[in-house]
Amino acid sequence: MNRLSAPGTKHQKWLRLALCLLAGLLAVGFFSAGGFAARAAGPGSSTATGSSTAGDDAVGEITTGISLEHSGGLGTGVLLDRNRSTSITPAGGDTIGITSETPFTRIYLVWDRPPAAWELEAGGATSRGGSYGYLHELATLETPVTEATLTLGEGENILCDIYLFGDAPLPDWVQQWQPPCEKADLVVFSTHADDEHLFFGGILPTYAGEQGLAVQVVYMTNHWGERYRPHELLDGLWTVGVTAYPVIGPFPDLYASLESLASAESVFDRDEVLAFQVEMLRRFKPLVAAGHDLNGEYGHGAHILNAQTLVEALELTADETAYPESAAQYGTWDVPKTYLHLYPENEIIMDWTVPLERFGGATAFEMAEAGFAKHTSQVTYFSVQLGGTWEDCRKFGLVRSTVGPDVAGNDLFENIDMTPEPEPAPEPESVPVTSIIPAEGDSLPGEHSAFISLPASTQQPSDSGSSWVIMVAVAAVVVIVVLVAVLVRVNRGGKKGGKGRRRW
Ligand SMILES: [Zn+2]
Repeated sequence: MNRLSAPGTKHQKWLRLALCLLAGLLAVGFFSAGGFAARAAGPGSSTATGSSTAGDDAVGEITTGISLEHSGGLGTGVLLDRNRSTSITPAGGDTIGITSETPFTRIYLVWDRPPAAWELEAGGATSRGGSYGYLHELATLETPVTEATLTLGEGENILCDIYLFGDAPLPDWVQQWQPPCEKADLVVFSTHADDEHLFFGGILPTYAGEQGLAVQVVYMTNHWGERYRPHELLDGLWTVGVTAYPVIGPFPDLYASLESLASAESVFDRDEVLAFQVEMLRRFKPLVAAGHDLNGEYGHGAHILNAQTLVEALELTADETAYPESAAQYGTWDVPKTYLHLYPENEIIMDWTVPLERFGGATAFEMAEAGFAKHTSQVTYFSVQLGGTWEDCRKFGLVRSTVGPDVAGNDLFENIDMTPEPEPAPEPESVPVTSIIPAEGDSLPGEHSAFISLPASTQQPSDSGSSWVIMVAVAAVVVIVVLVAVLVRVNRGGKKGGKGRRRW
């Protein structure tokens, strides 16, 4: 030791220099990687959720300094009253000028009925909407503007509300629907708005919300006669994580359908309902279908008719000679698995008490309750129930299967191969939604996976962080090699009494 220390003063300087360099590099690497990681977590977490804290209605919303002007002179005050039961009915070709003292980038439109196709001009760009019949539709602009012009399409336009938003995260209640599924994993056949929660319980929060599957809800009846109910329907579906816009059937909900099948068949044409079911199964080609109790849950005739025609339809969808019109339009299909609520054979009891990560740990049952709670016109009459007889939303029976019986249970997709089909390598770039109308045949980016995919922009910082870590690691290795060389040099120098020739 002593022999090395005395003659090694020069070497010690080299050693100290190298050690300082190594420590500095490690420190820079640590803080750089940490800094990038922190930045990645910051905006990523808020962008991923895409919404503010539940119940915080005002986040991002512009509520003052807005003025609206209808080209035909209709009063536009009702469009800013946040009340879906008040509306105006502008004619096709009319315009509504929108000005705001605060720049806005998003416009949320609430319609009373499916509107005609509309156009929105803002900042020199045109967005189009209305072609999917969304009652609640968000238009995203390319740049912040203080003026925009909405031009109504030819047809019925009953407009309830207009909301403006800046760049801040949107509130939870703003709905961003995707078109109905091109190909569904699961179709739920609900008769009325609210049955999808009452009788199908945790199915929607589990398979649409938590698992992000392509879930399509098809309602046999419509409630256009009760203008609040279609909004309740959409609010409920959005709450439980459904993103594919529902099919709202052509059959008006009629009170005469209550209580018995005969009553239901007196107001609904059974063959028309059957044709509708066949068409829906061929259109969405589900792996799993779920329908009502054959006894109508509590004897409701429309529920019975819906369940019976669904079971009949299962035997017809693969036959191109049955209802050939929908076969020609969509092709044929044979549904692998179909469950009915409360069906007594091949029964499974779903566990809806498992916490769901997508909903912050709320259970599927709690989310079914939350979805049903959006049906404010119905909550005094019904409630979602675990247990009981007709109310038990956990009990389903496999009424038809082409993939064998269930063994484990508690999974509608048991025996279904969910391995995604190989696809050609997708384009890596993310696609900003500047127009809410995709071209014919296109599917929207992120369709049916909006809740589980992060925007590419939030991933870039952590990629940069990784490259920094690699650079620092390489530099550290170089320094260590230099250190070893110095040590060897010192060692040799020591053995020679510190008089060796210095080469560096
Ligand atoms: Zn019902």
